[in-house]
Order: sequence, then C-alpha cells, then structure tokens
Amino acid sequence: MSLLTVRDLSKSFGGNRAVDGIGFQLAAGELLALIGPNGAGKSTTFNMVNGQLRPDGGSITLDGHELIGRKPREIWKLGVGRTFQIAETFASLTVVENVQMALLSADGRVFSMTRRAAAHKRSEALALLQQVGMAAQAERPCSVLAYGDVKRVELAIALANAPRLLLMDEPTAGMAPKERNELMALTRQLVQQRGLGVLFTEHSMDVVFAYADRIIVLARGRLIAEGRPAEIRENPLVQEVYFGSGKTFERKPVVTPA
Ligand code: ADP
Ligand code: MG
Repeated sequence: MSLLTVRDLSKSFGGNRAVDGIGFQLAAGELLALIGPNGAGKSTTFNMVNGQLRPDGGSITLDGHELIGRKPREIWKLGVGRTFQIAETFASLTVVENVQMALLSADGRVFSMTRRAAAHKRSEALALLQQVGMAAQAERPCSVLAYGDVKRVELAIALANAPRLLLMDEPTAGMAPKERNELMALTRQLVQQRGLGVLFTEHSMDVVFAYADRIIVLARGRLIAEGRPAEIRENPLVQEVYFGSGKTFERKPVVTPA
C-alpha cells in the first residue's frame, strides 16, 4: 500500500486553476520528484498536503487517513514533515540547541527549554546531527554556518519529529552544485535507512535525474507525465513543456548517487 495517495486534487485562485485534478501515489522508501515549469502548481500541491492550503476538491490520504480538513499541526503529528528555514530568532542558538528545541516541540513541549529537558534531549539531538553529518559542528551557533550546513541542520530538525513523509520544496535553492549533490545524497540515504517517503521539487534536472526514484511532471496544474527518470527524460511532451519542441534534456555526466 502506498504511504501517500493523492486523488483528483484541485485548487483554484480566482479563475486560475493552479492544481487541476491531479493524482499520484508515493510509497515508503521512495524519493519522488515533482517537477514542472514555474507556476505549474508544485508549491500549491505541497501546501495542500501539509495543510496550509485547503483544496477545492479531491483527497489526500496518508496510510488511509484523510488529511484534507485537518490543521497543519495535526498533519505534522500524523507524520508529515517538511524542511523549514531556521528562523532568525534561532540563528543565535547552537546547532545542537536548535535540534533540541525541535525534539521538545515534537513532544508537544513547545519552548519549554528548561535545563533538565534540554539535557534530556541532548544525546538524541546529537544522534540526529550524526545522521546528517553535523555532529562536529554541534556547538557552533547556526548563524556562522555555511549555507549547505544550515540545510543539513534543517533536515535534522525535520527528522526530530520522526516523519514518515517528508516534503521538500526546492531544498537545494541557492546551493552550489556540489552542495546540492551532497544534500540529495544524504536525503537518499535517509530514505533508504528510515524507509522515509520524500516528495521534493528541484530545478536542476541533473539532480532530479540522478536522485529521484520516480518523477511526476506538472504543467499548468495538470499532471502530464509520470515515470522513472529515464522515461521522463525521453518523454516528448515533457521535453516540449520545458524547452519547446525539438530540444532534449542535456545528457551531462552526473554524480552517481551513493
Ligand atoms: P510552482 O510552485 O510550480 O512554481 P505555484 O504552486 O506556486 O507554482 O503556483 C501555481 C499557480 O497558482 C501560479 O499561477 C500562481 O501564480 C498561482 N498562485 C499560487 N499561490 C497563489 C496565491 N496564494 N494566490 C493566488 N494565486 C496563487
Ligand atoms: Mg514553487
């Protein structure tokens, strides 16, 4: 059975059909890319899954539980996580403190950063930082980290709630190619180790083709293709949407996923 099942999902803004009757499934342990030109409806889809936006129609189920109509916090508690940008106010906290806060929040003890609670969560936080390769920088303030390292901490924070489905909307935006590949390789590793399902958007086709297990393609709110990277690469409709007729995706050598 799939982890996430989306059926006939729609959302209009005024007369603009941002998402127009799409459906797809995502299994546990699967890294699914949602691609499409700007304005295709990718973020709108994400925001309906995480409960920020109420769909006009359709259904979104996680393990058979309907998510539509639930508040974002409830959906998060059911195991749908997403990577947030670390808020300005937390930038002065250290890396490990940020993850401790996230662990406390996952327990429902928001902002109860008492000394004893903090001590209690410290080893758990360090274990998460170990998983994202940030243990060595645990005591540094987040404000001094390199951009790619901030993204790793954000991933650790998202994992603090032990999500079963992780939504990553443009996780590598603003990153250099090397950092992008590192973050996606790490994500892939987490997907395999934890049996996590991940839905992500990404502009770099190199990254998408290298790391996604499967790809779904949106154009003007409609799902126009779905398949393995090799199938999507050869799909004439997808090529047309991205580049106009005649052109194909470049076949640059890509970093092989670990
Ligand atoms: P993508 O993430 O694929 O670039 P979006 O989901 O952000 O696309 O947007 C899809 C369409 O919906 C676009 O035409 C966009 O202008 C419109 N849209 C998105 N959010 C809103 C909103 N809050 N209010 C009005 N229109 C919106
Ligand atoms: Mg978007």
